Amino acid sequence: MENKKEMRAWLDNMKLGHPLVIAGPCSAETEEQVLNIAHQLKGTDVSYYRAGIWKPRTRPGNFEGVGALGLKWLQKVKAETGLKTATEVANRNHVELALEHDIDLLWIGARSTVSPFIVQEIADALKGTDKIVLVKNPVNPDLPLWLGAIERLYASDIKKLGVIHRGFSTYEKTKYRNNPEWQLAIELQTKFPDLPLINDPSHITGKRDMIFDVSQTALDLNFDGLMIETHFDPDNAWSDAAQQVTPKTLIQIMQDLRVRKETDAETEYSNSLNNLRAQIDVLDNQLIELLGKRMKISDGIGQLKRQKNVAVLQTKRWNEILGKMVLEGEEKGLSEEFILKMFKAIHQESINHQEKIINS
Ligand code: PEP
Ligand code: MN
Repeated sequence: MENKKEMRAWLDNMKLGHPLVIAGPCSAETEEQVLNIAHQLKGTDVSYYRAGIWKPRTRPGNFEGVGALGLKWLQKVKAETGLKTATEVANRNHVELALEHDIDLLWIGARSTVSPFIVQEIADALKGTDKIVLVKNPVNPDLPLWLGAIERLYASDIKKLGVIHRGFSTYEKTKYRNNPEWQLAIELQTKFPDLPLINDPSHITGKRDMIFDVSQTALDLNFDGLMIETHFDPDNAWSDAAQQVTPKTLIQIMQDLRVRKETDAETEYSNSLNNLRAQIDVLDNQLIELLGKRMKISDGIGQLKRQKNVAVLQTKRWNEILGKMVLEGEEKGLSEEFILKMFKAIHQESINHQEKIINS
């Protein structure tokens, strides 16, 4: 534990009552672009300036980054603005170049965290560095894979280690670019309570107008910081155009966010309460999503019944479902009365939907 407290020291020193903010463009495009954005972020609550130099692209043919040349631009950023610098590294060569150019914070991208070979190569190259290293969650919602990457870096004696939650890809379309699956980040927080946890609302939402809400949820869930993609001309960015905000918007977001006060005896109770409420909100949203999905399937059944001219109410099947759910509910400490009431309401809604379909 002592060791972990030490690992947080770099964050706490900087925190000064507000979340750590890492901001800057998805990709470094030109020297002018990198410096222009950095100058607009100078003197704000932004502590680290990010810019992707090597861009992992899902499909070939998209902009793959300016390469090592961009590291010089980041050095200029530091010299001219005092902002610390951050970039993504995805192999040994990237790590060596980033360290040579004195980049302050290196992060491992979601597409690298999925590969234990790559993570090990990066961990070996970073061995003993005092730079900050942040591990993004893997693209798929696989907690052990994320934990494995953290353990490989711990084993390489990285002192200033943290994680970035950037959401998880799903086959199914949702309103997010990458589904937050907050419960996964919460579980990771429970396993490593002293590991700084940064949220990346840009890659979670994929849309700039959703960034504020996701950032607020993250802060309510006790996240320590935010990484927000920022560009002076977001619509014309060479990558991730839809999700980048202008420096002006970022400053407004930072002003509007409700920030947890530092814990003291007085605020401890309300912090814990807010945190638990935020967890409940996440689950409530999931309940609504699930109920919506259930209703869509039920609508499909309605269509089938309509084609075959079958009655909506199938009593036998319904009684079977209820019996099973009462038993399952019991195991989770839910009373029979509650299960019956809840499923009766769900069932009634399904019947209403199907009636409408059959009579349409
Ligand atoms: C990025 O931060 O620009 C990036 C490529 O992120 P991720 O690894 O989360 O997709
Ligand atoms: Mn990006």
